[in-house]
Amino acid sequence: MYSVKDKPNKRKGQNVTSPNKKAVILFIDMNSFFASCEQQENPVLRGKPIVVCGGHANGVIIAPSIEAKTFGVKTGMRLKEATLLCPHLFAITPHSNVYRKYHIGIMNVLRQFSEDVIPKSIDEAVVNLSHYQLLYPDAFKVAREIKEAIQNQVGEWLQCSIGIAPNTFLAKLATNLQKPNGLVQIHENNIDEILKTLRLTDLPGIAQRTEKKLIQAGIHSPFTMRHTSPEVLKHIMGGVAGYHWHYRLNFAEVDLHSSAYKSMSAVRTLSSLQRNNVKVLYEILLALCMKLESRLVHHHFFAKSIAFQSTYLNQSHWAFHVRLQHPIQDGTDIFKYLKQKIDLSEKSLQRNIFSSDIRTIGVVVNEFIPDTYVQYELFDQNLKRDQLRKTVYHIKELFGNHKMIKAVEMRETEVLHDIIGFGSVKDMIG
Ligand SMILES: [Mg+2]
Repeated sequence: MYSVKDKPNKRKGQNVTSPNKKAVILFIDMNSFFASCEQQENPVLRGKPIVVCGGHANGVIIAPSIEAKTFGVKTGMRLKEATLLCPHLFAITPHSNVYRKYHIGIMNVLRQFSEDVIPKSIDEAVVNLSHYQLLYPDAFKVAREIKEAIQNQVGEWLQCSIGIAPNTFLAKLATNLQKPNGLVQIHENNIDEILKTLRLTDLPGIAQRTEKKLIQAGIHSPFTMRHTSPEVLKHIMGGVAGYHWHYRLNFAEVDLHSSAYKSMSAVRTLSSLQRNNVKVLYEILLALCMKLESRLVHHHFFAKSIAFQSTYLNQSHWAFHVRLQHPIQDGTDIFKYLKQKIDLSEKSLQRNIFSSDIRTIGVVVNEFIPDTYVQYELFDQNLKRDQLRKTVYHIKELFGNHKMIKAVEMRETEVLHDIIGFGSVKDMIG
């Protein structure tokens, strides 16, 4: 039997399924963040189409400037392709320290407005003003003041889109409606009109596969989705995620906690057959690592710390914890670190960790770092691999988990089949 636990940093009363139309959530999304930071640092680049990328012709573009976007240049394109669209494109190699400096500056500005600020990634944050309504009766005015404060205190070239709504999801949706320099509020009186103009895939979190399911069930737009009962959505979407889609479109807060994970763990209780076969035990360990990988990818995290724990039939336990120099996300990397440490410990302890009286094995990952930070730190060596992993998960999302399995998973097919469908509620609503 598997059990998986997530330990979100619980803030009392913030995630609830009852609607709260009076809550005031601001979602701040910096526009073309990395490129704007480069232009902030170097005024010669301002107003020009630039891209932050690996620097060689085959390099992947990680951030086009607002000006480059008007030529159709997009994140993920090769520099070669982008230059065809925009011959005067400047390519800049990434400076992660600079982006981090501006990120910290922006978060400090946001904290001047509310103590309740949750960074969502290097260029996004949620500011909860629900408890500040006496201080700030006009959310639009605060949003404009935030934009000004960022430009005055951090950098005049830094623009952001701000969405205002009674929950995090709708506030994020509102930032997507106007870019750059947007300011949109979604409330009870305009939500239906707005949702009528959108496609299902315009909702962050609805990919083509889910869209197809919804359309087959007669739900063609986010508007119809909002007015479909939670039970029907649950039936169509095949799980509790359906409930949450109803709630988040109806002003309940079900998304605020998702960035506040402190750790993720995957634990397996072993049968007597399994505990007598070391090879199977390692396969299970690998399966647990792969499961954590899929959840790290889903939540856009890398982990800087991993831990292992085994318990035994005589109630004893054994555990260790590794702090890594570089954050990781890859399940086979997590496995490699654990295996190395287990091998070393077995030698020094002169005993088997995976012995025949082992009862459970568990893996924990924590000290999360948003993936946007990591990509730039490890740009050269790992970006390609990380993008490949994202693509793999994207394909899984489109076609179902079983269609695409990494070579290493192939070997462990049986073990992995065993764990398909195990996961927590939170993973389904992400
Ligand atoms: Mg952005």
